[in-house]
Amino acid sequence: MKLVFLGPPGSGKGTYASRICEQKGWAHISTGDLFRENLKKQTEIGMKAKKYMDEGALVPDDIVIGMLKERLEKDDCKKGFILDGFPRTIPQAEAMEKITDTDVVVNLSIPDEVLIEKILARRTCEKCGDIYNVADIRFGPNKEHHMPPVNPRVGGVCDKCGGKLVSRSDETKEVIENRLKVYRKQTEPLIKYYREKGLIRDVDVTGPPSIMVPKILGAIGEE
Ligand code: ADP
Ligand code: ZN
Repeated sequence: MKLVFLGPPGSGKGTYASRICEQKGWAHISTGDLFRENLKKQTEIGMKAKKYMDEGALVPDDIVIGMLKERLEKDDCKKGFILDGFPRTIPQAEAMEKITDTDVVVNLSIPDEVLIEKILARRTCEKCGDIYNVADIRFGPNKEHHMPPVNPRVGGVCDKCGGKLVSRSDETKEVIENRLKVYRKQTEPLIKYYREKGLIRDVDVTGPPSIMVPKILGAIGEE
């Protein structure tokens, strides 16, 4: 299956995409992770992307599209993939249509007030990008939705690779607010774009990954 995950920063895209890909043997393609890897290796792409990422702005389309095209040519994409964080603009979506077709677009919804709290509590593995969260969040009209912490087995240490868990440098309140603004303005129009193509499956984020993963698999007909 060829999937796109849409949702604001903090909606859990990365966590759900990573778990579903592990279960299904699909490739998890996060353009944010790809940029962070390039940054660590100080490649040309990484150097170009840095200033945009630091501000919570989008990296210019041509850089992202080139990087994604190369990634999609790798063998592990043949069985299927989830794009997490791409496309983020209409021109990116249009460019993507020339590279690959898309089966389904999952649109994750979550109330704004939960997002900032959730992102500030996010901890990412320095080495492999695995994601954890130390917040214990209740929300909904009657606080009926509960997102308990997603803690590693050993505090501060990645379950998967033993790497150190850190807050990303773009996870300050100021930058997060800008990322949300950018999402509303530049990425949200994609919901309408894909809805008109009949590709959208709406999924409300209402709980921890143990609830969300089966819910998303149900929504895409892969349970
Ligand atoms: P989140 O989804 O939590 O906002 P990501 O890890 O997906 O964070 O992205 C981090 C940063 O990488 C973004 O703020 C942006 O600067 C850059 N980035 C990632 N994907 C794209 C994209 N498709 N287009 C432009 N910039 C991107
Ligand atoms: Zn790790």
